[in-house]
Amino acid sequence: MHIIPDMKPEYSYDIIVVGAGPAGSTAAMYAAMHDLSVLLVEKKKDIGVPLQCGGFLPHYPVLQELVPNAELPFTLEEIPRSCIHATASYQRFIAPSGLSKGFEVNADAIDRRRFDKHLAKEAGKAGAHLLVGTNVNEVNGTELSMDGAFGKFKVNAKVIIGADGPNSVVAKANNMLRDPDPMGTGTAFEYEISGVDVDKDAVEMYFGKDYVPGGYAWIISQGEDTANIGVGIREALFEKHLCARDYLDRFMYRHPIASEKLRGGAITSVVAGLVPVGGAPKVTANHNTLIAGDAAGHIIATNGGGISTAMVGGKIAGETAAEFLAGKCQLMEYEKRWRQQMGLEIMTAVYVRKLMDRLMLSDRLMTTAIRMISPEQMKAIQCGQLPDPVKRTLIKLNVGLS
Ligand SMILES: Cc1cc2nc3c(=O)[nH]c(=O)nc-3n(C[C@H](O)[C@H](O)[C@H](O)COP(=O)(O)OP(=O)(O)OC[C@H]3O[C@@H](n4cnc5c(N)ncnc54)[C@H](O)[C@@H]3O)c2cc1C
Repeated sequence: MHIIPDMKPEYSYDIIVVGAGPAGSTAAMYAAMHDLSVLLVEKKKDIGVPLQCGGFLPHYPVLQELVPNAELPFTLEEIPRSCIHATASYQRFIAPSGLSKGFEVNADAIDRRRFDKHLAKEAGKAGAHLLVGTNVNEVNGTELSMDGAFGKFKVNAKVIIGADGPNSVVAKANNMLRDPDPMGTGTAFEYEISGVDVDKDAVEMYFGKDYVPGGYAWIISQGEDTANIGVGIREALFEKHLCARDYLDRFMYRHPIASEKLRGGAITSVVAGLVPVGGAPKVTANHNTLIAGDAAGHIIATNGGGISTAMVGGKIAGETAAEFLAGKCQLMEYEKRWRQQMGLEIMTAVYVRKLMDRLMLSDRLMTTAIRMISPEQMKAIQCGQLPDPVKRTLIKLNVGLS
C-alpha cells in the first residue's frame, strides 16, 4: 500500500476521488489499476466511522439479477468473512394489519465499518494514495481545497471523481444537481441494539402510516442477540413536531409486533443519514469531472439500497477516467456507460417508488396490496421492477396509473 511519505499529498494527481465510501474506494481502485497517480480523500478520520448504513447486501448472483447489464466489481463477490455480521435467507413484509408475507433471499448483513475500510485498503493496494481526516471544502475547476488532520492544501487533478455522498460538494460545484423534490430525499435513522430475540434468518420490513408514513421500518439481525432496526422516511411526510427518531422510538416501543421482539433491547449505536431516492441528476459528467454513488443518485429507490449500485457507478467512473487519460475515450462517455449498465433499473425504481408513495399513505390499501401481490411480485417491486400483474393490481387499487 502506498503511504504518502510526509503524510501530505503531492500537488497534482491524474485523478482525485473525493469520498472513501463504496463508490469512491471502488473508483480509486479501478483507476489506480491503470498505473495512474490517484488520490482518495476522505473527511472521516476513521474510514467507515461513524456508520451510516444498515448493511443489507444481497449476494452477488442476486445483485447481478437486479442490474443484469452491469459489470459488477469483483469486490462485491469477494467479501471477507470478517465484514459479514450475519446471513439472511428470508425477507418478510409485515402489512399495517399485521398480515405477513415473504420470499426467500440470499443476502448478508455486512459490517459497513469494516467493509468500507476493506474497500479503501483495496484501493491502496492497487496504488492509490489515501488521505483520511481531510475535508474537501472547495472545488474550483480541477483544483480542490482541502483541510484536515494533515494540514491545508490545494491539490490539482486532471480528472475529479465526486463520490462524496448525497450532499456532494463536487456535484454542487459542477451544477450536477438532483431534482429538488422533497419526496426525493429520505432520512434513514437506525439503532444498533443488543439483548433482543429477533429472527436471525429473516430481514423484516414493516409498513404502516402511523409508524413510517410513506416509508418502511426494518429489523435486520446482526447475529446472536444483536440487530439493526431503523426507519426510512421522508421529512415531507412527518407529522408536525416529530423527527425521524420519534418514529423509530414509536416503532420500537409501540408497534404491536415489533415492540414484543425488541423488548428489553439496549441501544448501542445511533446511525443516521440521507438517502437520495429521487433518481439521478440530468448531468453526471463534464470535461473534467464525474460523480458516482449517492452523489449521482445511484440507488434503488424502492428500498433505499445503494451499496452495490454505488460500487458499479464507482467502477465505471474509475475505468472511464483512466481510459480518458490514456486517450481512448471522451470523459463524457461515463454518462452513457452507467446509464446503459443500470440507468433503466434506477429510473424504474423511482417510478415504482412514486406509485408506492401513494399506496403507503393508506393502511387499508397497503394491507390489500400485500394480500393481493404474490411473494415473487413483491421481490420484483423491492428490486424496483413493476411486473404487469402488479400494475393491474395497482390500477384496481386506483393508485394513479392510467
Ligand atoms: C441509515 C442508512 C441505512 C442504509 N442502509 C442501507 C442498506 O441496508 N443497504 C444498502 O444497500 N444501502 C443502504 N443505505 C444506502 C447506502 O448506505 C448508500 O447508498 C451508500 O453508502 C452509497 O455509497 P457512496 O460511496 O456513494 O456514499 P457514502 O457511503 O455516503 O460515502 C461518501 C463518503 O464521502 C465522504 N465525504 C463526503 N463529503 C466529503 C468531503 N467534502 N470531503 C471528503 N470526504 C467527503 C463521506 O465521509 C463518506 O465516507 C443506507 C443509507 C443510510 C443513510
